Amino acid sequence: MPAPTADAAAAPRPIDLLVRGRIVTMQPGATPIADGAVAVDGGDIVACGPFADLDRRFAPRRRLGDANAIVMPGFIDAHTHCTQCFVRSLTANELPMIPRIYNPAQRALSPDQAAAAVRLLSAQLLASGVTTVCEGTLNPDHEAPILAALDEVGIRAVMARGRADQDFYHASLYRQLNETSWAKPRPGEAEADLARTEAMLDAYPPAGRQLIRAAVNASALLGFSEGYFREGAALARRHGATIQVHVGRDREEVEFSLAVWGRRPIERLADLGVVDRHLVAIHAVLASEGEIELLAKGGAALAHSPIECVANMNGVPNLPRFRAAGIRVALGCDNQANDMFANMRACWLLHGAKWGLPAYDPAFLSAGDVLAMATSEAADVLALADRVGTLEPGKAADMVVLDGDRPHLFAAHDLKTELVRYGSRGEIAQTIVEGRVLYDRGDFASIDLDRLRADAAAGAADMERVVEGRRYTPLGD
Ligand SMILES: [Zn+2]
Repeated sequence: MPAPTADAAAAPRPIDLLVRGRIVTMQPGATPIADGAVAVDGGDIVACGPFADLDRRFAPRRRLGDANAIVMPGFIDAHTHCTQCFVRSLTANELPMIPRIYNPAQRALSPDQAAAAVRLLSAQLLASGVTTVCEGTLNPDHEAPILAALDEVGIRAVMARGRADQDFYHASLYRQLNETSWAKPRPGEAEADLARTEAMLDAYPPAGRQLIRAAVNASALLGFSEGYFREGAALARRHGATIQVHVGRDREEVEFSLAVWGRRPIERLADLGVVDRHLVAIHAVLASEGEIELLAKGGAALAHSPIECVANMNGVPNLPRFRAAGIRVALGCDNQANDMFANMRACWLLHGAKWGLPAYDPAFLSAGDVLAMATSEAADVLALADRVGTLEPGKAADMVVLDGDRPHLFAAHDLKTELVRYGSRGEIAQTIVEGRVLYDRGDFASIDLDRLRADAAAGAADMERVVEGRRYTPLGD
């Protein structure tokens, strides 16, 4: 009998958790590990490899998964607003509705309701395998309750904050007969608000181990001044944070930008020095060819919400063109379906119908690309790749365990294709953030569902009252 090697003779190392399954690491070029495992200790991944090997090396206090399970990085929801949670379905059949319904509803939300909205959003996201959410908030009164609720839930988050500092008037197509569009910054407000963002960046730095990282939210060209954009971009660069801007979202914004500055929206951002690696361009559904080039040249990224494209009837970005230009893309749920499987499927079908079918081009967007935009590439877009996005030693143990023992997954060949085309949140067994099992087969570790159910029903009823007189379509139609 051969002498045992030093490694085999060593006592197994005690660790917190060992997760067994078919491992989709999402590392570039890596193929899934057939019967693999991820070893977790102190919130970090300490090893990832064949199960037999890790089972010998580690003595876990807890085990999850099995040989059939599928284990992958937690999804990243790269764009949302929790304060839209209670009003969502009231907006259907009500377009256009953002100034008429979303904005008044968000303004009416109390700080306690904002916290409840975070719990509701988080519960929906965790149950669909999302471990990181990027929240954009415009109301300073909501910031503290949102941060407290994120902390209480324990989900990873990027918190982009910023308050508008500019008055504007959009003389729409018809009012242009007698009026013109204009934008007027409110003096001093940009400086005061960006000082507040800088304080948040100091408290929640965009590096390190803490679960929440801050970001600059210069939400849109209409409400944020030239000075805000210039200084906000500089602030993002100084702190290594992202600056998040809704841009090229709808026709009214393009009209306004052309009327006031004589430039298309992304051209205007480029003029203001905002288009660099820190910029996350949100939506950009109306980006022209030249604007796509500007984003690519600057190294900026796109946050793309495929379901929102149809829900708000704003447009469909030329995603294959963005990708061919080398632009990094992250998928966001934007509070439409807080379900990343639904979002990935919508992405595949929407762009298949829009760009793949007319050219009979089955290679318009691969499943691996779609999955990357929901995990590894999204981590890069949000400046989180040092901690999450792939399963590898040294990164945080943010991951999802899927029950692979379901008939629709019995004959799996290519796991990435299976997940994007056929997977659903119904297979999610556990959702884990930094080694902590926050969702386990219907149970939430940090969310009281009875309280949440009551808060959500009350919030929804309140929002219905707030927007009642502003709706065009009676409920039920
Ligand atoms: Zn948004």
